[in-house]
Order: sequence, then C-alpha cells, then structure tokens
Amino acid sequence: MKSNSFYGLMAMVFLAFSCSEKQQPVKSTKPMTILIQPFKDFSSENVLKTAEGIRKIYPNIKILEAIDFPDNAYYKERNRYRADSIIKFLDSRTKDGFVTIGLTSKDISVTKGKIKDYGIMGLGYRPGKACVASKYRLDKKNADEQFFKIAIHELGHTQGLKHCPEKTCFMRDAEGGNPTDEETDFCPKCKTFLISKNWKFNSI
Ligand SMILES: [Zn+2]
Ligand SMILES: [Zn+2]
Repeated sequence: MKSNSFYGLMAMVFLAFSCSEKQQPVKSTKPMTILIQPFKDFSSENVLKTAEGIRKIYPNIKILEAIDFPDNAYYKERNRYRADSIIKFLDSRTKDGFVTIGLTSKDISVTKGKIKDYGIMGLGYRPGKACVASKYRLDKKNADEQFFKIAIHELGHTQGLKHCPEKTCFMRDAEGGNPTDEETDFCPKCKTFLISKNWKFNSI
C-alpha cells in the first residue's frame, strides 16, 4: 500500500510538471481599443482628422461623443484646464482593455517641479489608461499635423514608452519647446515595442 501511494504521488508530480512545461506564456488575445474622447470645444472635423491618423497605425479605435470638462479641471487664474485632473476623470471612465485620449483646443497645464501651473501640449502617464492632447500651443500653420504627433506621443506613454533620444522619433521629449516638425515617425526601437502591443506598422 505504501509504495503504491508513493508511485501515485510521483505520477501526479510528473503530470503537474509536464503540464506546466507545455504551457505557453499567456498572451492577451483581445487587443485594446483606443477611445477618442473629444471635449466640446474641439471641432468634429479635427476629431476625424486625428482619428484618421491614429487609425493608420492602430486600427482598433472608437470615437466617442464630445463631453464637458470635469468641473474640478478648470484653473480660473490662468483660464486653463488641469491636465492631471482631466486624466484622472478620463481614467475613471475607462474600463480595462481600453485607453482614452482626450482632445481639446483649450490650454492645459500641470505642476512641474516648482512651477505650480505649467502650460503643456499633452500629458500621459506611463503606463496608463488615459491621456490628453491640446491644440492650443501649436503653430497655426500646421497645427493638424503637429496635433497628431502630440496625440500619438501621449498614447505611446500610455502603452509604456519612455521619452526617446532619437530626434526624429514621436517619443522625443519636447523639453519645454515644440520639436514636432522634426519628428517623422516612431524610431525602430519604439516601433518594435509598440508592435508587441498589437500596433501595426508597414515598415520598421
Ligand atoms: Zn512625453
Ligand atoms: Zn523612439
């Protein structure tokens, strides 16, 4: 009896091991959806233009109805909207498997070091479920193209991308300026990272 149960146990242990050996790393089968969330100040024409650009490299997107800013985001002293409050608000509305990007033409700001209210073009946490992009600080002559680059940069952060040292990469750090005209694409390194998150690129 004793030896029988010993062999029985061995068989079970062996079975357990052979099972775990065959197991593949769990890969999420359902790609996330990017939710495009315009605020009411942002024109529907610009929403479509931005969505079209994003769709080319990440096809799984959905455009939502325009909404108001959350009340707590307004910073009256500067007539700006706080990007961190906007992200918190969008994050709370975003379910698992989704990432929301808020679009606005109003000025947005965040606390940066000792500067209490610092105007920015966009903000996204790394990784995160929500980000925001603003058209307010962009050059009027090619604001559409620049805006797409801001949006895709912030979405890159939500996916886990850091700032990139490549001057032509969308993940370049703006460093207080607006270098978007020098940016042409994600660099091969950033692309490889995004491909692992189901992003589609024709070439690396
Ligand atoms: Zn950034
Ligand atoms: Zn890069």
